[in-house]
Amino acid sequence: MKQGYTGPIIIEIAIPLYLERTFHYLVPEVLREQALTGRRALVPFGNRKLTGYILGIASGSAITNLKEIIAVLDTELLWTAKELDFFRWIASYYQHPLGEVVRTALPAGINIQTRKGTSGEQESFTGGKTARSEKFYLPGGVTTVTVRQPGAKALEILAVIRESGAISAAELRKRFGACTPQLKRLTELGLSRVEEREVYRDPFKSHIVPRDESRLLHTHQKAALDAISACLDGDHFTPFLLYGVTGSGKTEVYLQAISHALALGRNALVLVPEIALTPQLTGRFQARFDGGIAILHSGLSDGERYDEWRRIRRGLARIVIGARSAIFAPLEKIGIIIVDEEHEASFKQSDGLRYNARDLALVRGQMERAAVVLGSATPLVTSVHAAEEGRLTLLELPERVEGRPMPLVELVGMKGNKETLSTALSAKLTETYDQRRQAIVFLNRRGFATFLVCSDCGKPLTCPNCSVTLTYHRQRGQSLCHYCDYAVPAPGICPACAGTTLSELGAGTEKLEHDLKDLLPTARILRMDSDTTSGKGSHERLLSRMNNGSADILVGTQMIAKGHDFPEVTLVGVVNAEASLGMPDFRAAERTFQLLSQVIGRAGRGDNPGRVVVQAHDTEHYAIRSAVEHDAAGFYRQELEFRREAGYPPFAFLAAFAISGLSEQTVAEQAEVAARLLARLKSELKVRVEILGPAPSPIYRLRNRFRRQILLKSANRSDLHRLLASWRQQATVGSTIRISVDIDPVDMM
Ligand code: ADP
Ligand code: ZN
Repeated sequence: MKQGYTGPIIIEIAIPLYLERTFHYLVPEVLREQALTGRRALVPFGNRKLTGYILGIASGSAITNLKEIIAVLDTELLWTAKELDFFRWIASYYQHPLGEVVRTALPAGINIQTRKGTSGEQESFTGGKTARSEKFYLPGGVTTVTVRQPGAKALEILAVIRESGAISAAELRKRFGACTPQLKRLTELGLSRVEEREVYRDPFKSHIVPRDESRLLHTHQKAALDAISACLDGDHFTPFLLYGVTGSGKTEVYLQAISHALALGRNALVLVPEIALTPQLTGRFQARFDGGIAILHSGLSDGERYDEWRRIRRGLARIVIGARSAIFAPLEKIGIIIVDEEHEASFKQSDGLRYNARDLALVRGQMERAAVVLGSATPLVTSVHAAEEGRLTLLELPERVEGRPMPLVELVGMKGNKETLSTALSAKLTETYDQRRQAIVFLNRRGFATFLVCSDCGKPLTCPNCSVTLTYHRQRGQSLCHYCDYAVPAPGICPACAGTTLSELGAGTEKLEHDLKDLLPTARILRMDSDTTSGKGSHERLLSRMNNGSADILVGTQMIAKGHDFPEVTLVGVVNAEASLGMPDFRAAERTFQLLSQVIGRAGRGDNPGRVVVQAHDTEHYAIRSAVEHDAAGFYRQELEFRREAGYPPFAFLAAFAISGLSEQTVAEQAEVAARLLARLKSELKVRVEILGPAPSPIYRLRNRFRRQILLKSANRSDLHRLLASWRQQATVGSTIRISVDIDPVDMM
């Protein structure tokens, strides 16, 4: 703080609680040097002590009996002024308390370090691992010749130390075997120095990556790269939509654009869906760039994540790759932000601060004057519209690399057919297997049967906590709720009438695997869904078995549709293509089209042309037809027409209220109260907002809670914002119910 200033210093602090406002505190004399913006402070709050975030010095305060902060918890700054601007933007846009935004942005593991320095009484601190310390050897400064010369091995070691500048004792032992006496001697002679250094847990440690050089770009790739490079050279914000079919070389464009940014001294942030954050993808980045890459994925412990975070904060990583929360990475001088598979719903956080990392990439990119590249083979309908309007600069890669043809797709009508596999698909599978080639069969539903139905009373088995049917898993011998994990032994008896004849309806991946074994008893079949990939590394193991040819057929849910490149796959089968059309969500057609296109794109990525068989009951639906006919333009045209008529995004902005609680009646009453208040405020403010509902949510009961929703729609973003803001000021929510407001909702279930 300012030198020589003696008056009281008042600072503004955000508390990570659901409180709208920030708070003023006094800084005691002894903490003045430390209490800087960007650090956390321990503060008295009511009769508790909480961690707060120092936002800045307040010019004054209306409050007279301000309390003093107790301690400053950091020695380094946790966020920059620019990042604070970003946090403030988020707090305002998503109407979320600033303290909660900051808490969400910081890594959970950050609470570890502070624990050492302060007493253990703080409530918000959680446990975790700290970084290890390791001994490092550095060249010493003394050059005088001494009497006792070091031996030959010691001299060799010394050469390595000098060459590398600094090297860990562990690394030296790896190269020279036991060498403690030699190291001791070198240190005594002043030829080397020992230093304890913090080391970061390295998520790559076990991978050895071969080098990879830039490819010579084809015409469309070159045009895309030139456009992005021009934006980087000009140091101005430009948002791009990189629209390229699967296998068209988008990743190669990302890599070369990043090279360009790095060469200009700027850094790169890469956001990918969690599911795509595999060694396959990260390996491509590591193979291209030397070190300086930080990877943030959900497999990291809090401690590991915090290590990565610190590496980034200290400027030791210039490329950050991560899932949605990486949008908060403490990376400075960002030149380029890439959002790969920008259409993925997983960029949206579904609880707490309900942000969308894809949207925030544009916001942060603008603040950083960066190039923002949204890449996809099947962009969001809203992105295509934005490109048509010129709000996104369209970069197209219309062809596959090396002119590989798009796969031939056959659509098979399944009306009246009860089998999981059609004759056409069975024949193709047999043929592919006979040719020793690989196949993928896709069905977006796990389990054995979709559900069990009682033959006596005709009722399906449903979850007692959620209003959904239970999925029958034969291997586990259970009927399982996919929402709350409720499970009963299966087949079992009918809970409604105690009937004992339960029949299977619909098919899941487990049944599909079973039927494929009947068809091809000697084929090696793998199943990939959330039942088979829950163990650590199991996802990678399945993928590598497919890649090294030790499997013939891969059966799976949407997990297999995304981000993987299987060069030997020549046949793709899709069972029940319309599974996702039945969702009560205005994006159902868009999701179905995207998913089908992605699955179809898995075929023929190597040198062999691909073939696809799509089985559907509803062969006329435009989402299915367009995907099968590779007619993306046709799909977007039709879908945008529907959105315009129905008043959905991009022609309207949405906010969804979710009201839930244990008492059905209270939920219904409170939903009415909320809707009435919204209606009153709407007329007072004279805003153009449509209020739909309250209505029961599509999943009316979830984990014992009853759920209702209110949907707000407006063609005018600021009208919607004003209404929400005044609702927040005036609403009083009882303690027995929960009301959450989701701005730009993605999941409407
Ligand atoms: P996408 O990200 O669009 O699916 P990729 O960038 O993964 O496409 O490219 C598909 C394959 O083609 C990869 O194996 C990649 O190494 C290769 N590739 C990409 N661009 C070129 C190029 N210009 N020349 C040769 N091979 C390329
Ligand atoms: Zn349930």
